[in-house]
Amino acid sequence: MVIKNSTFFLFLACLIIAALTVSSPLFGQERDFRFDPGVTYNEEIPTPEAFLGYKLGSTFTLHSDVVGYFKKLDELSDRLSLHKYGETYEGRGLYYAVISSEENQANIAELREENLALANPGENDNEGVAADQPITVWLSYNVHGNEPSSSEAAMQSAYRLVAGMDQETQNMREQAITIIDPMINPDGRDRYVFWYKSARSNMLNTDAADYEHDEIWPGGRTNHYWFDLNRDWVWLVHPESRGRIAAYQQWMPQVHLDLHEQGFNANYFTMPGTTPRNYELPDDYEKWTDVFGRGAIEGFDEHNINYATREAFDFFYPGYGSSYPSNMGAIGMLAEQGGHSRGGRAVETDDGYVLTLRQRIFDHYTNSISVVRTAIENREPLLNYFQNSFTRKAKKGNIGAFVLPDNGNDYTYELVDILLQHGVEVSRATEDFNLGNAYAYSNGESGRRSFKEGSFVISMDQPRHVFLNTLMKRQLTIRDSVMYDMSTWSAPQAYNLDAAWTTGSAGVATEAVTESPQYRSGVQNPDAGYAYVVDWSQRYAPNALSKLWEAGYRVRSAQEPFTYNDTTYGEGSLIVLIGRNYAKKDQIADDMQRIAGEARVQIQGFDTGRMDDGIDLASRRSQPVDKPKVALMVDNPFNSYTAGQIWFLFDRWTEFGISRIRSESLSSVDLSEYDVLIMPGIRGDFSSAADSTAQARIKSWVQAGGTLVATENTAEFMTKEKSGFTSVELVKKDTTDKKVKEGIDPEAYTSYAAREDSSGLKRIPGAAFNGVIDNTHPLAFGVPEHLYSLKFSDESLKPTTDWQVVGHYAKDADEVLASGYASQENIKKAAGNAFAGVANMGSGKVVFLLDNTQYRMFWVGPARMLQNAVMLLHDM
Ligand SMILES: [Zn+2]
Repeated sequence: MVIKNSTFFLFLACLIIAALTVSSPLFGQERDFRFDPGVTYNEEIPTPEAFLGYKLGSTFTLHSDVVGYFKKLDELSDRLSLHKYGETYEGRGLYYAVISSEENQANIAELREENLALANPGENDNEGVAADQPITVWLSYNVHGNEPSSSEAAMQSAYRLVAGMDQETQNMREQAITIIDPMINPDGRDRYVFWYKSARSNMLNTDAADYEHDEIWPGGRTNHYWFDLNRDWVWLVHPESRGRIAAYQQWMPQVHLDLHEQGFNANYFTMPGTTPRNYELPDDYEKWTDVFGRGAIEGFDEHNINYATREAFDFFYPGYGSSYPSNMGAIGMLAEQGGHSRGGRAVETDDGYVLTLRQRIFDHYTNSISVVRTAIENREPLLNYFQNSFTRKAKKGNIGAFVLPDNGNDYTYELVDILLQHGVEVSRATEDFNLGNAYAYSNGESGRRSFKEGSFVISMDQPRHVFLNTLMKRQLTIRDSVMYDMSTWSAPQAYNLDAAWTTGSAGVATEAVTESPQYRSGVQNPDAGYAYVVDWSQRYAPNALSKLWEAGYRVRSAQEPFTYNDTTYGEGSLIVLIGRNYAKKDQIADDMQRIAGEARVQIQGFDTGRMDDGIDLASRRSQPVDKPKVALMVDNPFNSYTAGQIWFLFDRWTEFGISRIRSESLSSVDLSEYDVLIMPGIRGDFSSAADSTAQARIKSWVQAGGTLVATENTAEFMTKEKSGFTSVELVKKDTTDKKVKEGIDPEAYTSYAAREDSSGLKRIPGAAFNGVIDNTHPLAFGVPEHLYSLKFSDESLKPTTDWQVVGHYAKDADEVLASGYASQENIKKAAGNAFAGVANMGSGKVVFLLDNTQYRMFWVGPARMLQNAVMLLHDM
């Protein structure tokens, strides 16, 4: 079916009439934004408009219909094949389409293998590329669900590449394999689209303040668990990322474009971006982004589309869709169209222009096609750039190998699993070995160190060296303190591992690791006569606790360590006494087997309660812990990312059900129903989350025995200064500077032009601080004594005897910064001060967790403190 032009004009007329009715000055400036009307198309292939039954831009298309269009193209054309690579939490299919000429498609498996061979140059480094080898281009749409123009543009881009009959489109098919992922985040996208459809008026309203443009919390940007998938390309926490990277590693494109939207007042952002830069990347990276940026600009100039380059966006953090591909030898790029969640079908900008959804689609379509065009125009040099980046001669720095000891109970296996998913070669030592120059992640100093057989050895002498350095280095070069995202992500620090690196080779015999290591699980002495014990330092011990409660067991938690048969069980270890669970005597052995397997923990059966050292199993120092009822605050003004992480930590990793309470219910909900209340960080002031009445209710609930867990800036609010809720104090700014003492802050003289840089210097943009942990306190049971805490705010808490300090930053200012950027002033301010602890109040307690404990679910070294705060502390 072909939609006739009259439908189109009818649409325009409606748009104009609608706009006039809401007194918007649309009349006279509307444009039809026709997609390449000069190109002739194969008539057997339906346009998106013909398939959907409406003109692109007149409304938003649901995930099922976008997928439907790609399935139709797959059905009708040999030039496109659609592949499913996963499923979201909400059960939506994830797909990518491969578009190329019929001839290439007939040969696609071989072409893909030839392309992959470039990413493994082997001993000879550079074999050169075949003269007719196609270039692989990957276009990614709609990672942020409420930046919705891009999935609409994906359909038009696919239509052009499949159905275009002109010479240029034919060349694109012959010389390129173009992969289109039309929707990276279907759950978030559909959340936005369903919401928008429910919120829209009949009369088009371009007023950005209107309900139709004002999305509700948590918004459609994120996935089901409120995570930003455009930060997860490296960490692969979510099925969307895992499936995509598995597909990505099968194709390894030379060019990747990630299409987004930004605020509706901004003009189109195209490449190149700004600093800081990742110095691990090949030197020519920026040059190439400029070539692509200028390619887009050519199309924009032709159509009077406005744009900006070299500002706002950097590609330093490797977990973006713009930066990850660059670490994999591609030219990774970002595109930002103005529009975003407030864009709706049309919105009036601050200079009175009416930005339509149709234009947003047109702009993204124009850029998408220009990227394929630029790619084939520069096919050979780009293939060479790609291949070169994997060679030995492109390797930077002097690191020879990274070493991760296998403790079997921490996050090491998670990191190894991630490395394997990214095509990194990992091996294991087949013997004990020593390193003369093992560098430590806490301070970067080297020394002699011995490692056990089974330690993971990751040599830098491998094709993925750029990615490896970017992910594993303690400190990347930073020459600019103003960054779009965090300043460190050093993986061994994020997972709080006792790792090391060395220059030169590790000099030890190894064998390749081909499968992800599995946590050891099972029951030793399964028919025990007295008790079962789960050591609390195990990665999934909290999951086992949840399952023990679920199965109705009375569980104790050891307040002190104990040793039996030369094995020591640490603080917090779970003890299930058979005598105290006598009614379950006949099933307990089976239950323990099941729980050990499902939770992935090791459980030790005991025939006696008399330990060799430390407390006995039934000691009064083995504290019964009951299953608490837990509430997590959500909705405005709470930070949806932190709320989502905490929800995920308990719902997925711990498999422990918690209630999520809307902030507006805080003054009406019966708090006495709950033992624990978790408050994530907030945007703005705490009084916007809880008015004085709600605050008084929370306070009396704590005094009556409740455990309040306050994280990030909510923890700041619980101090003496901010609310008087507790006697815990914030650390004051150092005023030893003479001028500050006299009342003049030197910052007052900062020039207008330097203000942004100056505020960047003052911020801590996500840096790792060395933390010292008191793991004899229940809040830190199972946490190593040394912890990398991820610092964003410049606040810290004053250690006093009024409360129980559990985590503080290194006392010596020279030892505070473990990696990333923080100013000397901020480092000095933090040194020796606290970031975690507990203040008693009446019969209850307030838990302070000033730094995020599970950032993006990859900076998870501190996460056990939150699990302890929620699962153990209420009974201690
Ligand atoms: Zn975005």
